[in-house]
Amino acid sequence: MARYTGAVCRQCRREGQKLFLKGERCYTEKCGISRRQYAPGQHGQGRKKLSEYGIQLREKQKARRYYGVLESQFRKYFNMANKKTGVTGENLLAILESRLDNVAYRLGFGASRPEARQLVAHGHFTVNGRKVDIPSFLVKANDVISIKEKSRGSEKIKAVLEITASRTVPKWLDLDRNTLTAKVLAAAGREDIDLPLEEHLIVELYSR
Ligand code: SF4
Repeated sequence: MARYTGAVCRQCRREGQKLFLKGERCYTEKCGISRRQYAPGQHGQGRKKLSEYGIQLREKQKARRYYGVLESQFRKYFNMANKKTGVTGENLLAILESRLDNVAYRLGFGASRPEARQLVAHGHFTVNGRKVDIPSFLVKANDVISIKEKSRGSEKIKAVLEITASRTVPKWLDLDRNTLTAKVLAAAGREDIDLPLEEHLIVELYSR
């Protein structure tokens, strides 16, 4: 289960916008991008005009970083999206949204995607009654995601649920907060995905 292990705030600074990878801290003045509004590295403060390729590349990197996906996996998702009927860019985002770590985050079972990913990997969730500890597991319509009975009393889970209590759950997921169980109603539509991504640029990049 490969993942990026470097400094996460660097990723936001590289993309020039908040990617919300650190949960609560992202909403405070300690946020890395609020304190240093320039790209990381020796040449980070220099002005740079991006080429068309550069713009497409940055959009792809931003999407990868939002969802915490490495290049090879991201390319695999693109190929899957390309084979489906419909708009490739929208298919790609729907696949990324259906990752179990993202679904857990959307449900408020993680303050950030990286935290949701860790909780999935630590085996706190079930899908259709069976333990699933693979963050990249893709859920589909009618799947039922739940926090494991044993995990519900854990201090970590309680703290996460308190932080995310006011989070709005997207309409493609039906959450029962009493039983901490949710059903996937449908695949995420483009209008359900609130990320500032221009997915057509990613399609253009991979179509070169
Ligand atoms: Fe990005 Fe959050 Fe770090 Fe701010 S605190 S730079 S939003 S990861």
